[in-house]
Amino acid sequence: MPYVLPPAAPASLSVCGSDQRFAVHRIYCVGRNYAEHAREMGSTGREAPFFFMKPADAVVPVAAGQTGSVPYPSLTNNYHHELELVVAMGRGGADIAVDSALEHVWGYAVGLDMTRRDLQSEAKQKGRPWSIAKGFDASAPIGPLTPAAQAQGIARAGIALTVNGSERQKSTIADMIWSVPEIIAHLSRAWLLAPGDLIFTGTPAGVGAVVRGDLLAGHIDGLEPLRVKIA
Ligand code: MN
Repeated sequence: MPYVLPPAAPASLSVCGSDQRFAVHRIYCVGRNYAEHAREMGSTGREAPFFFMKPADAVVPVAAGQTGSVPYPSLTNNYHHELELVVAMGRGGADIAVDSALEHVWGYAVGLDMTRRDLQSEAKQKGRPWSIAKGFDASAPIGPLTPAAQAQGIARAGIALTVNGSERQKSTIADMIWSVPEIIAHLSRAWLLAPGDLIFTGTPAGVGAVVRGDLLAGHIDGLEPLRVKIA
Protein backbone atom coordinates (compact mmCIF):
# COMPACT_ATOMS: atom_id res chain seq x y z
CA MET A 1 0.00 0.00 0.00
CA PRO A 2 1.45 3.39 -0.92
CA TYR A 3 2.03 5.97 1.81
CA VAL A 4 1.75 9.69 1.22
CA LEU A 5 5.11 10.05 3.00
CA PRO A 6 7.74 7.29 3.33
CA PRO A 7 7.40 5.67 6.80
CA ALA A 8 10.35 6.08 9.15
CA ALA A 9 12.55 3.03 9.75
CA PRO A 10 11.80 1.47 13.17
CA ALA A 11 14.02 2.36 16.09
CA SER A 12 16.16 -0.67 16.93
CA LEU A 13 18.76 -2.07 19.32
CA SER A 14 21.85 -4.11 18.56
CA VAL A 15 21.98 -7.72 19.77
CA CYS A 16 25.05 -9.32 21.36
CA GLY A 17 26.81 -11.72 19.02
CA SER A 18 24.42 -11.13 16.12
CA ASP A 19 24.08 -8.94 13.03
CA GLN A 20 20.31 -8.92 13.49
CA ARG A 21 18.65 -5.99 15.26
CA PHE A 22 15.72 -5.81 17.69
CA ALA A 23 13.00 -3.46 16.39
CA VAL A 24 11.47 -1.32 19.14
CA HIS A 25 7.69 -1.07 19.47
CA ARG A 26 6.94 0.97 22.63
CA ILE A 27 9.00 2.08 25.62
CA TYR A 28 7.38 1.74 29.06
CA CYS A 29 9.10 3.00 32.20
CA VAL A 30 8.50 2.23 35.87
CA GLY A 31 8.79 5.02 38.45
CA ARG A 32 10.35 4.63 41.91
CA ASN A 33 11.19 0.93 41.93
CA TYR A 34 14.09 0.87 44.42
CA ALA A 35 13.28 1.80 48.02
CA GLU A 36 16.31 4.03 48.54
CA HIS A 37 15.64 5.98 45.31
CA ALA A 38 11.93 6.26 46.20
CA ARG A 39 13.03 7.84 49.49
CA GLU A 40 15.43 10.25 47.75
CA MET A 41 12.48 11.32 45.56
CA GLY A 42 10.31 11.92 48.63
CA SER A 43 8.13 8.79 48.80
CA THR A 44 7.41 6.54 51.76
CA GLY A 45 6.25 2.93 51.81
CA ARG A 46 5.32 0.43 49.07
CA GLU A 47 2.81 1.74 46.58
CA ALA A 48 1.51 0.13 43.39
CA PRO A 49 3.95 0.57 40.50
CA PHE A 50 3.27 3.53 38.22
CA PHE A 51 4.28 3.95 34.61
CA PHE A 52 5.18 6.54 32.02
CA MET A 53 6.35 6.22 28.43
CA LYS A 54 8.99 7.43 26.05
CA PRO A 55 8.60 7.47 22.27
CA ALA A 56 10.32 4.52 20.53
CA ASP A 57 12.55 6.87 18.58
CA ALA A 58 13.98 8.36 21.80
CA VAL A 59 16.29 5.32 21.77
CA VAL A 60 20.00 5.92 21.28
CA PRO A 61 21.26 2.43 20.43
CA VAL A 62 24.85 1.76 21.43
CA ALA A 63 26.66 -1.26 19.96
CA ALA A 64 29.03 -3.54 21.90
CA GLY A 65 32.39 -1.91 22.55
CA GLN A 66 31.18 1.49 21.32
CA THR A 67 30.73 4.78 23.17
CA GLY A 68 27.43 6.37 22.22
CA SER A 69 27.03 10.10 21.79
CA VAL A 70 24.07 11.68 23.60
CA PRO A 71 23.28 15.35 22.97
CA TYR A 72 22.74 17.56 26.04
CA PRO A 73 19.04 18.43 25.70
CA SER A 74 17.43 21.86 25.42
CA LEU A 75 15.37 23.54 28.17
CA THR A 76 17.19 22.07 31.19
CA ASN A 77 19.88 23.01 33.67
CA ASN A 78 19.53 19.79 35.66
CA TYR A 79 19.96 16.83 33.30
CA HIS A 80 20.01 13.58 35.31
CA HIS A 81 21.17 10.02 34.75
CA GLU A 82 18.99 7.08 35.86
CA LEU A 83 20.70 3.74 35.27
CA GLU A 84 18.18 0.95 34.69
CA LEU A 85 17.74 -2.66 33.63
CA VAL A 86 15.84 -2.69 30.33
CA VAL A 87 13.59 -5.67 29.56
CA ALA A 88 12.85 -6.46 25.90
CA MET A 89 9.59 -8.30 25.22
CA GLY A 90 9.62 -11.18 22.73
CA ARG A 91 5.95 -12.06 23.17
CA GLY A 92 3.07 -9.74 23.98
CA GLY A 93 -0.20 -10.29 25.74
CA ALA A 94 -2.77 -8.94 28.18
CA ASP A 95 -3.27 -10.04 31.78
CA ILE A 96 0.02 -11.91 31.86
CA ALA A 97 0.45 -13.94 35.05
CA VAL A 98 3.50 -13.35 37.27
CA ASP A 99 4.40 -17.05 37.06
CA SER A 100 4.65 -17.08 33.26
CA ALA A 101 5.82 -13.49 32.71
CA LEU A 102 9.46 -14.36 32.08
CA GLU A 103 8.43 -16.59 29.15
CA HIS A 104 7.50 -13.34 27.37
CA VAL A 105 10.96 -11.78 27.78
CA TRP A 106 13.31 -11.84 24.78
CA GLY A 107 16.31 -10.30 26.47
CA TYR A 108 17.87 -7.64 28.67
CA ALA A 109 20.07 -4.56 28.24
CA VAL A 110 21.62 -1.75 30.22
CA GLY A 111 19.78 1.54 29.71
CA LEU A 112 19.70 5.14 30.89
CA ASP A 113 16.37 6.86 31.59
CA MET A 114 17.76 10.36 31.01
CA THR A 115 15.65 13.00 32.74
CA ARG A 116 15.25 16.78 32.68
CA ARG A 117 14.90 16.83 36.48
CA ASP A 118 14.06 20.54 36.71
CA LEU A 119 11.17 20.11 34.26
CA GLN A 120 10.02 16.96 36.09
CA SER A 121 9.96 18.81 39.42
CA GLU A 122 7.93 21.62 37.85
CA ALA A 123 5.51 19.12 36.28
CA LYS A 124 5.03 17.35 39.62
CA GLN A 125 4.43 20.68 41.38
CA LYS A 126 1.86 21.81 38.81
CA GLY A 127 0.24 18.39 38.28
CA ARG A 128 1.29 18.38 34.62
CA PRO A 129 2.39 15.42 32.43
CA TRP A 130 6.01 14.21 32.55
CA SER A 131 6.47 13.92 28.77
CA ILE A 132 8.75 16.95 28.45
CA ALA A 133 10.85 15.72 31.38
CA LYS A 134 11.13 12.05 30.36
CA GLY A 135 10.11 11.57 26.72
CA PHE A 136 12.39 14.02 24.93
CA ASP A 137 14.65 13.20 21.98
CA ALA A 138 17.59 10.88 22.74
CA SER A 139 16.33 10.30 26.30
CA ALA A 140 16.81 6.51 26.12
CA PRO A 141 20.40 5.37 25.47
CA ILE A 142 20.46 1.55 25.51
CA GLY A 143 23.30 -0.95 25.05
CA PRO A 144 23.14 -4.23 23.12
CA LEU A 145 20.52 -6.81 24.08
CA THR A 146 21.56 -10.07 25.68
CA PRO A 147 19.09 -12.92 25.00
CA ALA A 148 17.29 -14.04 28.18
CA ALA A 149 18.73 -17.57 27.96
CA GLN A 150 22.22 -16.07 28.37
CA ALA A 151 21.21 -13.86 31.34
CA GLN A 152 20.02 -16.42 33.86
CA GLY A 153 21.35 -14.61 36.94
CA ILE A 154 19.75 -11.28 36.11
CA ALA A 155 17.32 -11.23 39.08
CA ARG A 156 20.28 -10.94 41.50
CA ALA A 157 22.74 -9.04 39.29
CA GLY A 158 24.69 -6.04 40.50
CA ILE A 159 23.93 -2.71 38.80
CA ALA A 160 26.33 0.25 38.87
CA LEU A 161 27.01 3.54 37.11
CA THR A 162 30.19 5.57 37.02
CA VAL A 163 30.51 9.12 35.68
CA ASN A 164 34.08 10.00 34.59
CA GLY A 165 35.22 6.95 36.58
CA SER A 166 33.54 7.96 39.87
CA GLU A 167 30.81 5.74 41.27
CA ARG A 168 27.34 7.36 41.26
CA GLN A 169 24.82 4.51 41.49
CA LYS A 170 25.33 1.01 42.90
CA SER A 171 22.73 -1.57 43.89
CA THR A 172 21.42 -4.98 42.90
CA ILE A 173 18.43 -5.96 40.79
CA ALA A 174 17.23 -7.97 43.83
CA ASP A 175 16.55 -4.62 45.56
CA MET A 176 13.72 -3.75 43.18
CA ILE A 177 10.41 -3.11 44.94
CA TRP A 178 8.53 -4.76 42.05
CA SER A 179 10.36 -7.63 40.30
CA VAL A 180 10.49 -7.98 36.51
CA PRO A 181 7.68 -10.61 36.42
CA GLU A 182 5.52 -8.41 38.69
CA ILE A 183 6.14 -5.35 36.49
CA ILE A 184 5.15 -7.29 33.36
CA ALA A 185 1.98 -8.55 35.09
CA HIS A 186 1.01 -5.01 36.20
CA LEU A 187 1.80 -3.42 32.81
CA SER A 188 -0.14 -6.05 30.88
CA ARG A 189 -3.29 -5.23 32.84
CA ALA A 190 -3.09 -1.61 31.63
CA TRP A 191 -1.80 -2.08 28.06
CA LEU A 192 -1.74 -4.88 25.49
CA LEU A 193 1.96 -5.69 25.44
CA ALA A 194 3.55 -6.50 22.08
CA PRO A 195 6.76 -8.04 20.78
CA GLY A 196 9.35 -5.26 20.57
CA ASP A 197 8.17 -3.44 23.69
CA LEU A 198 10.91 -2.27 26.06
CA ILE A 199 10.48 -1.74 29.80
CA PHE A 200 12.76 0.50 31.86
CA THR A 201 12.49 -1.08 35.30
CA GLY A 202 13.41 1.82 37.57
CA THR A 203 16.63 3.26 38.93
CA PRO A 204 18.51 2.72 42.20
CA ALA A 205 19.51 5.63 44.45
CA GLY A 206 22.25 8.04 43.46
CA VAL A 207 20.70 9.87 40.51
CA GLY A 208 22.45 13.12 39.68
CA ALA A 209 23.31 15.72 37.09
CA VAL A 210 25.67 15.36 34.15
CA VAL A 211 27.17 17.99 31.86
CA ARG A 212 28.68 18.10 28.37
CA GLY A 213 31.82 16.00 28.11
CA ASP A 214 30.87 13.56 30.90
CA LEU A 215 31.49 9.88 30.22
CA LEU A 216 28.82 7.55 31.67
CA ALA A 217 29.53 3.84 32.08
CA GLY A 218 26.58 1.64 33.07
CA HIS A 219 27.13 -1.93 34.18
CA ILE A 220 24.81 -4.83 35.03
CA ASP A 221 26.39 -8.23 35.79
CA GLY A 222 26.03 -10.61 32.85
CA LEU A 223 25.07 -7.92 30.30
CA GLU A 224 27.11 -5.92 27.81
CA PRO A 225 28.02 -2.58 29.45
CA LEU A 226 26.69 0.76 28.17
CA ARG A 227 29.06 3.67 27.58
CA VAL A 228 27.90 7.12 26.48
CA LYS A 229 29.43 10.55 26.27
CA ILE A 230 27.34 13.71 26.72
CA ALA A 231 27.90 15.92 23.65
MN1 MN B 1 13.61 5.96 35.69
